[in-house]
Amino acid sequence: MFAEILAIGDELTSGQRLDTNTQWLSQRLEGLGIEVRFHTTIGDDLAANVQAFRIALSRAALVIATGGLGPTDDDLTRQALAEATGTELELDGESLEHIERRFSMRGRQMPPKNQIQAMFPQGSRVIPNPHGTAPGIDLAWASEGHTSRFIALPGVPAEMKEMWLATVAPSLAGQGTVRKIIRHHVVKCFGVGESHMEALLPDLIKRGREPRVGITVHQATISLRITATGESAEQCEAAIADTVQQIHAEVGDLVFGEGEVELQDVVMRQLLAQGKTIATVESSTAGMLAFWLGSVDERRAALVGGSILPLDALKSQEQVEQAAVAAREANQTDYALALGTYCDADSADQYAIALAGPEGVAAITSGLAGHPEIWGPRMAKQGLDLLRK
Ligand code: ATP
Ligand code: MG
Repeated sequence: MFAEILAIGDELTSGQRLDTNTQWLSQRLEGLGIEVRFHTTIGDDLAANVQAFRIALSRAALVIATGGLGPTDDDLTRQALAEATGTELELDGESLEHIERRFSMRGRQMPPKNQIQAMFPQGSRVIPNPHGTAPGIDLAWASEGHTSRFIALPGVPAEMKEMWLATVAPSLAGQGTVRKIIRHHVVKCFGVGESHMEALLPDLIKRGREPRVGITVHQATISLRITATGESAEQCEAAIADTVQQIHAEVGDLVFGEGEVELQDVVMRQLLAQGKTIATVESSTAGMLAFWLGSVDERRAALVGGSILPLDALKSQEQVEQAAVAAREANQTDYALALGTYCDADSADQYAIALAGPEGVAAITSGLAGHPEIWGPRMAKQGLDLLRK
């Protein structure tokens, strides 16, 4: 069985409010072993809701909707559900009493408009809402041999959560088809792009593999995200360990750590362990490298100095190398890393990274391509990687 979550409201589709209900519900469903395959967000439009409800009912065994249960004209969930399933709305006396009581408790009379909140598609069950006026709807639906269940909850996050925990979740217990235990683990890599990594790990990235391995990129580093599902934590952990081993066998030279570690953490720890020091010089990354190194907790002992040069201060690979050597001397450090961009003789944009150390200078140059938000971090990380090796 898998599920689809519908989030309803113009405030969501217009971007004025972030849909946190879907995130919360997805996590709860995963906890119950129910796989979520679709997230759909719909504005307050009747035709759009009817269409989205029909699609969801036809492709998911469980549909959870939030929002649109209020009494105003833009609250259309009840009506759309009746239309999508070809059922009539009928009044539920008990719900009407509950709503009237809520108003009289505050010394008010129920406005006629609120009666709509006691209307339910025929055959549905009422999900009580202890702290709000809008009860939820639980409707079983069958068509052409396919059965599904539609659950509508209010949009107000606190009410939605309370009703989920009190009534909906208990009714879903034991219905999950995904085995219960899920474990996540991340292996961090640097040195190739996302598609290159995929090509290096064809068997691991393959769809349908267990554990699953996904690739994401952030600031030029790759995260290989392993998700294991199993009968027990031990089984998941053994499967993860096995996958980590395979990753090391295939691309071990690109792996620099596991979990939430960054390249600068690894480099800093390495320097500290060896009792070595570093200084930086940057022309076009404006201190990005120094900032990263400086953000590592144990930084002080190893990062001795850093300078930012004007954008056009370094005009060739040679000058970047010289800057590294000069920074090493000026700061009296074991290493100095210099980063710079410039135009070569053919006016093509280039960047150079130079690492000056006790054994001399190592440098990397390459053509500059893409957005500064991409090449800046890539350059700085390449410098760190040079130091790591
Ligand atoms: P009510 O009975 O309170 O009228 P409702 O079902 O009509 O409930 P909405 O009017 O759609 O709910 O939303 C009520 C509040 O909940 C609004 O402040 C809205 O921004 C917020 N809300 C609705 N949907 C979401 C969502 N998916 N994520 C986070 N907040 C939401
Ligand atoms: Mg609404």
